[in-house]
Amino acid sequence: MHIEDLDLSTQCDAVVAATQRITPEKARDEVREIILEVDNAHCDCKAGQSIGVLVPGPHEIGHDYHVRLYSVADIPAPQTGPKRRITIVVRRSNYIDDYSGEEYKGVASNYLCDLHEGDHVRISGPYGIPFEIPDDRSANLLMISLGTGIAPFRAFVKHIYHDVGNWTGKVRLFYGAHTGLDMLYMNQERDDFNLYYDEETFKAFQALNPRPHWDDYIAMDQTLEAHEQEVWDMLCAHNTYVYIAGLPAINVMLDKAFSKMAGSPEKWQRRRKELIAGGRWTELLY
Ligand SMILES: Cc1cc2nc3c(=O)[nH]c(=O)nc-3n(C[C@H](O)[C@H](O)[C@H](O)COP(=O)(O)OP(=O)(O)OC[C@H]3O[C@@H](n4cnc5c(N)ncnc54)[C@H](O)[C@@H]3O)c2cc1C
Repeated sequence: MHIEDLDLSTQCDAVVAATQRITPEKARDEVREIILEVDNAHCDCKAGQSIGVLVPGPHEIGHDYHVRLYSVADIPAPQTGPKRRITIVVRRSNYIDDYSGEEYKGVASNYLCDLHEGDHVRISGPYGIPFEIPDDRSANLLMISLGTGIAPFRAFVKHIYHDVGNWTGKVRLFYGAHTGLDMLYMNQERDDFNLYYDEETFKAFQALNPRPHWDDYIAMDQTLEAHEQEVWDMLCAHNTYVYIAGLPAINVMLDKAFSKMAGSPEKWQRRRKELIAGGRWTELLY
């Protein structure tokens, strides 16, 4: 779906309840966790869904709002009053124009990262398919993400262990970032997944760029290959659900790693189609 086709009919006003940088100062990216408070009791977001943020104009090409999507990064707390809280995680995005070499500031990400507590924001949605948790608590869940793609999994893992409980299937999280400092919610200063390491069924694995000064590569394929037996057994099991989130580049790495495990790209594509057909493969790529 194109962003221009987004249905903006469900909108509400949100107030910034908190904004906090969650990457250490020395990390190359500024990523902020922003907690928005909304009045509208109908704005009920689930893990895997995203909200639209409408940045008021004027904008260069004349549209009233610049709209961008952000994944929800937490499950909604039990509602205690008329307010509801939505957590998003935003990377301040700046781009270099290939032609002029000039740097452009991403409109929505800079707008969000510059907000202060008490500021108002117009939001829309929610959008997208929630990451559904299977009814069967013995099902295996394989989650793979890069960068801010960790946001929906933070909500998802919390939901599995806090709300659902007694999960007996394997829950495996593979997460990639350029450096240890860029690992969101899993860095030296803050590790939210720490809460689940005692759970027998939960394990998390990190994939980093082996050459941190190179921009282009996070060794997710190598990390998956280091756990080849378990990953492939999970992918072949009848009760494994796969969830992918983050940059589209992740699919290239996954195809490479899984084709190797399957024995050929054709065999992997066959298995992937079976997982998709069985409703056991969900992607959130952007
Ligand atoms: C389903 C979904 C979920 C997402 N979840 C998250 C999330 O959880 N966290 C997150 O950080 N992001 C997320 N994103 C990405 C997010 O929606 C935005 O795309 C991102 O923040 C950049 O938006 P922006 O408005 O800051 O940049 P934009 O202003 O849209 O800039 C983006 C592009 O425009 C070009 N550009 C910008 N200005 C100029 C200019 N003046 N002249 C020429 N070219 C220009 C840039 O080169 C770049 O290609 C998600 C996206 C989707 C689709």
